[in-house]
Amino acid sequence: MLELRNVNTFYGNIQALRDVNLRIGDGEIVTLIGANGAGKSTTLMTICGGTPPRSGEVFFKGQPIHAMKPNKIVALGISQVPEGRLIFPDLTVQENLDLGAFLRNDKDGIKKDLEYIFDLFPILAQRRTQTGGTLSGGEQQMLAISRAIMARPTLLLLDEPSLGLAPIIIQQIFSIIEKINADGTTVFLVEQNANQALRIAHRAYVMENGRIVMEDAADRLLANPDVQKAYLGM
Ligand code: ATP
Repeated sequence: MLELRNVNTFYGNIQALRDVNLRIGDGEIVTLIGANGAGKSTTLMTICGGTPPRSGEVFFKGQPIHAMKPNKIVALGISQVPEGRLIFPDLTVQENLDLGAFLRNDKDGIKKDLEYIFDLFPILAQRRTQTGGTLSGGEQQMLAISRAIMARPTLLLLDEPSLGLAPIIIQQIFSIIEKINADGTTVFLVEQNANQALRIAHRAYVMENGRIVMEDAADRLLANPDVQKAYLGM
């Protein structure tokens, strides 16, 4: 579904991604793990068109997207849940969700997706008229994921959805990500919480200093002593 070929991304003179090659197959959950500053968020921003690569290529369903504007990339079926959630705090839950669907005009489809979201996250149905800023951290993450789903993506990109959340909420968010995937959405999950991410992913990549240094089935990486030592605190 998605392929990065020899991608190099810079911020001015700083090279954040170095010859990154990565593939995400239809129906997979693929995770990218790595330490602070490894280049994980930059990988997502490169896919979304926020920080286009200086060289290399990004293909979505065989189509080159590395020179496309972000709104065109969203329209093709890629949506992102950014790090830090970034919901609109002064808008209601419903208004935040409506914004997720701003590129769509299929009223029936939007209504169905709203029902799907309220089924995934019943708490959001209860909080529908409440402003985003008054939600708890976990509820804001649920809203951020839901807003991305309202664009009806075929590929959902998640940047550190566990950041700053209590363990029980993290469990809940990760099982919902598994459900969203089981319902047909391909997922690319960027995480520092390697333990949780590797438990739900099919395949995984490890990034260090802007380079992919390992890739394998997630369960094999979970059992790999080097990964355990460097990323799982074992
Ligand atoms: P974290 O988990 O802390 O978010 P990350 O793995 O997502 O880290 P990135 O945010 O992609 O890492 O950062 C990769 C490198 O690029 C870092 O060295 C960072 O300092 C640098 N960088 C990121 N954003 C910018 C920017 N806007 N301008 C300059 N350098 C940046």
